[in-house]
Amino acid sequence: MAETLDRLLAESRDRLKAAGIETAALDARHLISGLLGLSLAALMTRGGETVDDAMAARIRAAVARRAAREPVYRILGEREFYGLTFKLSKDTLEPRPDTETLVDCMIPHMRRIAARKGSCRIVDLGTGTGAICLAILHQVLEARGLGTDISEDALATARDNAERNGLSARFQTLRSNWFDKVDGRFDVVVSNPPYIRSRIVDELEPEVKLHDPAAALDGGDDGLNAYRAIALHADRHLETDGVIGLEIGFDQKQAVTALFVAQGFRLHDSAKDLGGNDRVLVFKRDGE
Ligand code: GLN
Repeated sequence: MAETLDRLLAESRDRLKAAGIETAALDARHLISGLLGLSLAALMTRGGETVDDAMAARIRAAVARRAAREPVYRILGEREFYGLTFKLSKDTLEPRPDTETLVDCMIPHMRRIAARKGSCRIVDLGTGTGAICLAILHQVLEARGLGTDISEDALATARDNAERNGLSARFQTLRSNWFDKVDGRFDVVVSNPPYIRSRIVDELEPEVKLHDPAAALDGGDDGLNAYRAIALHADRHLETDGVIGLEIGFDQKQAVTALFVAQGFRLHDSAKDLGGNDRVLVFKRDGE
């Protein structure tokens, strides 16, 4: 017998609640609306409609994955970030709302440079889905971007996301560990590198620990390995008057600033995330 959406929503919510998922009702709505290709609002007005057995089975399979602590957007395979939709894959971190703070911070710098020079080149180190770089390219039409990653899977996903969002003409990819294979200078360097201390990674919630790639989370013993690697070569790859924008862990502002100050940079700007934690640092060369 065909099931109504209302019944499937209630059944899904109850199953997720029984599995201890705190956001059971919301997750049920996101999963079902995502699978049906409907907005949350549209789903609410269609509760009396039925779906066929195949769709009911797909919904139940998705709910079972969520009950086993897989994140909603991993199950759906894509997630929205800064108004664009990004496909996820095994080697890509799921874009987080906090990371939109980094995009917000970099757009005025990109626009100022583009207004002065007529163009602006950005490199996104450890690009993953490409979310940061592509969101910026979408907002700043004169900009061109390079996304680097150590993972071919991530680079293929980033290229796919550029294509889906109509940005592939201005986006290139390069397989590289931080700056290792990067040539030339850029007006803007951005990165959301792994910054969690190795011994903490194990304590993360199962959604993150089991489903986000460890290489995108684990920043080494003190969480700062990637910043150290980036700081060491940043001067060689930054144009005059260029800026570096980094996402950081909530308690890393002093330590990351010290690493960049030691390489001849100064803290130019910083921003907090929606939760009020230090989340973004912007550096310029000392004296510029
Ligand atoms: N913000 C991510 C988390 O909370 C960590 C991302 C990173 O290490 N860059 O899991």
